[in-house]
Amino acid sequence: MSDKALVVLSGGQDSTTCLYWAIDRFGVDNVSSVTFDYGQRHRIELICASEVADFVGVPNVVLPIDTFSALGGDALTEPGIEVANATGRESGLPNTFVPGRNLIFLTFAAAYAYQRDIIHLVTGVAQTDYSGYPDCREETMQSLQATLRNGMESEIQIHTPLMHLSKKATVQLADALGALPAMAMTHTCYNGERPPCGTCPACELRAKGFAEAGVVDPLMLNS
Ligand SMILES: [Zn+2]
Repeated sequence: MSDKALVVLSGGQDSTTCLYWAIDRFGVDNVSSVTFDYGQRHRIELICASEVADFVGVPNVVLPIDTFSALGGDALTEPGIEVANATGRESGLPNTFVPGRNLIFLTFAAAYAYQRDIIHLVTGVAQTDYSGYPDCREETMQSLQATLRNGMESEIQIHTPLMHLSKKATVQLADALGALPAMAMTHTCYNGERPPCGTCPACELRAKGFAEAGVVDPLMLNS
């Protein structure tokens, strides 16, 4: 059975931690990464993903999915929409939720993996400490894995090493895996700012995790 792994790398803190997790588990020669250009407003994410992959020495491919920006309606792809936690929708989800994003990402990642005899997919989704995105839940990932296995007749495995970790625990894991130097190249801010704005929900969550872990965020040292 193949020991090759494909990491969905967004250029952020969590997927970078997952990249190190995959290297630790499968070996650097067996790991590659994929980044999706889904029309995100903040193109810096794509640059960060490429820089992180180069830094750790794994191949990175960028796959285009421009349909999400055509769908519109969320703050991550539509320039006219400001990041907001309350959108007035019954679901209570913030407007940074891009419906279907992780489902599509992992489906394309699985198809890419299938063509290369890769069965391990690694994603940084987590159901703790977050904005309650339903496509980050363990239940969603388990049912998606079952669907992909059925639909592709493959042994695909979706690994979610951060699923039950708090942000603090994620920082501690990154530290243990030696991932901190790469954190200086990552991007988290919903407003696409560098140095980070410090006030958006993503910046606040990141800062809280590092503070609670008692670790200085290398990104802030560089800023
Ligand atoms: Zn921010």
